[in-house]
Parts: sequence; C-alpha cells; structure tokens
Amino acid sequence: MQTANKTDVIIVGSGIVGLACALVAVEQGLSVQVVERENFCTGASIRNFGFVTVTGQGSGASWRRARRSRDIWAHIAPQVGIPVEHSGLYVVAQRAEAEAVLRELLLTEEGADLSWLDPGKLRKQAPHLAHAYVQGALYSPHELRVEARLAIEKLRLWLASRGVRFHMGQAVTQVEAGRVHLPTQTLQAERIVVCPGTDLRSLFPQVFAKYQTQLCQLQMLRIRPPRDYQLNAAVMSDLSLVRYRGFTELPGAARLEDRLRLEVPRALQHGIHLIVVQSSDGSLVVGDSHQYGETMPPFVPAEAEELILTEMQRVLCLGHYEVKERWTGIYPSGTQDAFIEAVLPDVQVLSVTSGSGMSTAFALAEECLKGERIAV
Ligand SMILES: Cc1cc2nc3c(=O)[nH]c(=O)nc-3n(C[C@H](O)[C@H](O)[C@H](O)COP(=O)(O)OP(=O)(O)OC[C@H]3O[C@@H](n4cnc5c(N)ncnc54)[C@H](O)[C@@H]3O)c2cc1C
Repeated sequence: MQTANKTDVIIVGSGIVGLACALVAVEQGLSVQVVERENFCTGASIRNFGFVTVTGQGSGASWRRARRSRDIWAHIAPQVGIPVEHSGLYVVAQRAEAEAVLRELLLTEEGADLSWLDPGKLRKQAPHLAHAYVQGALYSPHELRVEARLAIEKLRLWLASRGVRFHMGQAVTQVEAGRVHLPTQTLQAERIVVCPGTDLRSLFPQVFAKYQTQLCQLQMLRIRPPRDYQLNAAVMSDLSLVRYRGFTELPGAARLEDRLRLEVPRALQHGIHLIVVQSSDGSLVVGDSHQYGETMPPFVPAEAEELILTEMQRVLCLGHYEVKERWTGIYPSGTQDAFIEAVLPDVQVLSVTSGSGMSTAFALAEECLKGERIAV
C-alpha cells in the first residue's frame, strides 16, 4: 500500500457538487485532490438542463444559495471558457390560477427584480412563444443556461490546470478521519468532503437514511425545432408552479393544483413539468418527468414523453420538430433541499436532495468549506 502526500482537502465525487467544493478550496489557496469512480462524470451533472435557476427556488436559504451560485457561474464561466447559452426565464401562464400564483410571487422579497408581461408585451418581447390562451408571463432576469455536458468537463480540466489532482476511474471504498481509501492506495487530508450524488449506499448510508433520501428519475429529450427558431431565454409553464417549492409555498398554488388535477391528471401522476432551454446548435433540451423510488427500474413510460411534448407544444407551438436524443437522469431526493452533515472529525457529506445542484452547488460549497468566499 502506497500512502500519497497529504493535501489540505480530499473530495469524493466529481459531479458539480464535488467540483464546486474543489473550486472553493482552490480559491482559498488550499491543496485539493478529487477522487471519482468513473473515468469521466456520467451522473446528473452532465444529464441536466444546465439551467441555473433562481426563480422557483424555495424562499429563504435555497433562493439565496441560487442567487449566490448564479453570480459565481457568471464570474467563472468566461474564465473557464464555458459559454452562457442564454439568460433569463419566461414562466408562461396558461390559466388564470397560474397568473394568480405568479402575481403573488411578485409581491414577495424573491419577486423584487421580476416583472409581469401581459399578452401584448409578451408577444413583443417573446414572439417565438405561443400566444393563444396565454394570460401573460413572469419574466426573471436571473437565470443562466450552460451546456452541462461540456461545462462540467471544462470546469474539471480548468481546476486541474490550477493544481487540483484528479484520481479518475477510482472508487473510494472507505473514509476515515483524515484518510480516504482507494483500491490501491490511501490518500490523506486535513478535510474530506464526500459528494457521492446518487450513491446512497456505499459511504455513510445512515446520513441518507436520516434525511429520508430516495431517488428521483427524470426523462429528458433533445429536439430539433424549425430552422431559425430562437428561444433567447428558458421557458417554464403552469405545471412548474405545482412542483418548485418557490411557487408551491404561495397561497394560490393549491387552487391551480385543483384545476390541473381535473384537466391534466396524467401529467401530474408522471410528475411532469416543462423546462425548455436552447443550445448553440439551435436544438432544444426539453423535460421532464419525475418518478420516485429506492431503486429505479430501467424502463421508462412512453406516455411521460408524450405528455412532456404535448405541454411543450402548448407553450412553443413549433409546427414541426424532430426528437434527436432521449435520456434519463437520477438525483437524490430528500426531506430538505440539501444537507451538509458532519460524519467524522473534519469529514462532511454534502448532498443536494432537491434536483437543483447546478443552481445551488457553489453556495453550498462555500457554506461547507467556510473560510474566504469567492470574490465575484
Ligand atoms: C435529468 C436531470 C435534470 C436536471 N436539471 C437541473 C437543472 O437544470 N438545474 C439544476 O440546478 N439542477 C438540475 N438537476 C439536478 C442536478 O443535476 C443535481 O442536483 C447535481 O448534478 C448533483 O450533483 P452531484 O455532484 O451531487 O451528483 P453527480 O453528478 O451524480 O456526481 C456524483 C459523482 O460522485 C461519484 N461517486 C459516487 N460515489 C463514489 C465513490 N465511492 N468513489 C468515487 N466517486 C464516487 C459518482 O461517480 C459521480 O460522478 C437535474 C438532474 C437531473 C437528473
């Protein structure tokens, strides 16, 4: 057994949560090693929309983490060479009850920089959206979109160029205070942060049990819209208002849910809500559905995909489109949006248990490692 040189920090997992910890540690001038089981990141962090979402995050801590993380994304993306594909968000209201929820949000602290666009204004500002039967839309300037599958690897390589040592293709088999065991070597560090994504069983399973963590599987698509179709900002719709905590905690959400239960019960059963974002080649990433369990079946229902595309057409009215790619992704889902748990002296587990790691990981990493924050 070889014992590698001691570093200040070891991070287990190279998804966005692990990389965010590595970034914060490097900015604090610490020496860092990251251990990743796979040869490259294959988890939720490259399967997501790349949608850095502020509006819709739960009021208070989650919203503040998203605002902070968004500012860090905006600061580091140009340095790392990650293009921001577009900024902002339209939440399109198709029902009066949805408009009521969005207007309630405008009156909250989190709604301060948001604006309501009536149908006339929306038509002018976003002519590419469908306008029949639309009550209007909420516009948020906060959001950013990056191409996750490229951004994560670019961030990893950039961190490596700044001295972070990556051990790729090596699973951590055990963590003790100050020591991380790999199959062929033991690494040592002052601090260890375990960011294992959906692996709830291998390391510290009791922590995931404590927060009643299960898995949530999503269906995603990439479609080719008609030529020259320009989105300019992310799009969400009524169904999102009964899923994202920043909306569901508003008083009007219950009335909207009652109506959706009558009109689109199958969409609610599949946990469908709409997010659409655009990539530099013009293609649209569209999703998603939500299926919960402790172990995920490998088979996904075609009905969920049909319902996602139906909702997409209600809001975008594309005329024609072609499905180019389909995939699923899984994230851990628990009783809290995220947790940082001390499990041994100077060893913490950090997990985002609400499907919002692209939006909150940087701020969570700052909370976890404490010390100096990233200057943005
Ligand atoms: C389809 C989908 C869409 C989403 N869309 C968005 C979005 O647009 N915006 C947003 O904010 N969030 C989104 N999310 C949520 C977001 O992607 C996750 O919250 C985030 O990626 C979690 O990052 P992570 O680093 O914890 O996990 P992962 O990306 O799963 O990374 C964990 C890593 O740890 C490694 N690992 C685990 N155990 C070990 C071990 N013992 N030894 C070594 N390595 C180990 C794994 O191999 C893995 O690479 C989405 C999620 C999904 C599934």
